[in-house]
Amino acid sequence: MCFMNLSSKMIAVLGSTGSIGTNALEVIEASGGRLQAIALSAHSKLDQLLAQAKRHKPRWIIATDPKAAKAFDWSALPSETELLTGPAALAEVVARDEVDLVLAAIVGIAGLESTWAALDHKKTVALANKEALVVAGPLVTQLAEQRQALLLPVDSEHSAIFQALQAGKSSEVDRLVLTASGGPFKDFSPFQLKQVTVAEALEHPVWDMGPKITVDSATMMNKALEIIEARWLFGIPADQISVVIHPQSIVHSMVEFVDGSVIAQLSPPDMRLPIQYAFYYPDRVAGVAERLDWDRAFSLEFEPADTDQFPALKLGFDCAEAGGTAGAVLNAANEAAVGAFLAGELHFTEIVPACRSVLDSHSFEAQPSLDQLIELDRWARQEILSWVCP
Ligand code: NAD
Ligand code: MG
Repeated sequence: MCFMNLSSKMIAVLGSTGSIGTNALEVIEASGGRLQAIALSAHSKLDQLLAQAKRHKPRWIIATDPKAAKAFDWSALPSETELLTGPAALAEVVARDEVDLVLAAIVGIAGLESTWAALDHKKTVALANKEALVVAGPLVTQLAEQRQALLLPVDSEHSAIFQALQAGKSSEVDRLVLTASGGPFKDFSPFQLKQVTVAEALEHPVWDMGPKITVDSATMMNKALEIIEARWLFGIPADQISVVIHPQSIVHSMVEFVDGSVIAQLSPPDMRLPIQYAFYYPDRVAGVAERLDWDRAFSLEFEPADTDQFPALKLGFDCAEAGGTAGAVLNAANEAAVGAFLAGELHFTEIVPACRSVLDSHSFEAQPSLDQLIELDRWARQEILSWVCP
């Protein structure tokens, strides 16, 4: 089923076993050979990585956890696929001439180095890994500009904004409006929130996503990260970004122009569409994503998002306004806090206050280097330990 086509776009799918990665492989599979997976990577679930390799016959697969890779039986790997191990192999593979586009779909700061390497080698990057922009937005976008590498959003809100921005000039943009489903606990009382279990936090009402972003959606930290992502990706100040609650997740986000016109992108919640849009950009093609059914009545609701009700949003706005080291500290604190929550070591309601406390206690630097950001990432993770009850 896999055939070589000289005009295929060769895609390195980093994080291929995740929610975005598997959706991306469906888009590639439906492309009739116009897209091909030239590389796949995974950290765990190596049986799934092997199955993907058998199906897509990529040139390279990367098992980023060397210990797990060593313990795994690779004897069934297709003969045309080379196995590489360890995180450094990600940066090596994305630099190869044969790679046309890199899908950055690794979760967390672990995705930053390969995103950086891909842009550094002038590759087009389809960016799902929002954490790279949260941690180092100004540096990442500056690198993309210097290398003239395309940085295309995959996050559905940012893909929607990217599409809506095409309706006017950048000088005519008044406001970006990010939509948020509100997550599973939108109408919970403070008492109910205190009782939230890991299993409940992992049940998102609309989207089927990996565990970290699902918890981020429940705390609304995902929207906080997306405010910061939008701030750097589109170069729009924090006070020109708004968030509205839209439980149906059909309007994926909007741009309000100076004349008051609001341009939105609508489609059912299905990540295959923004992935496909980035893969084929600037073209649009018919694809596998679900479509709206105009023969069926449906309503779209919008409510203001209250930063008192969702304190994570305030964190997002504060970090987008401050810039510098703020995003890196917030991201690391949140990754560590979510990890602790998933391990049963931190209450759901402690995630956001723990992040606020670590953010407020760090020594802010306005123009940090990448090394300083990575050092602060370590520091913030350590700080979260004081909140954790083993
Ligand atoms: P996931 O947990 O389902 O998958 C993560 C992938 O990254 C897996 O392939 C995993 O093996 C790999 N990985 C995990 N840790 C790694 C490490 N230390 N080194 C290298 N690889 C590692 O996550 P996901 O839901 O697919 O999300 C991926 C990224 O896309 C995240 O940054 C998330 O915020 C973003 N995103 C996801 C969605 C969604 O619908 N899932 C939507 C928008 C943005
Ligand atoms: Mg999103």
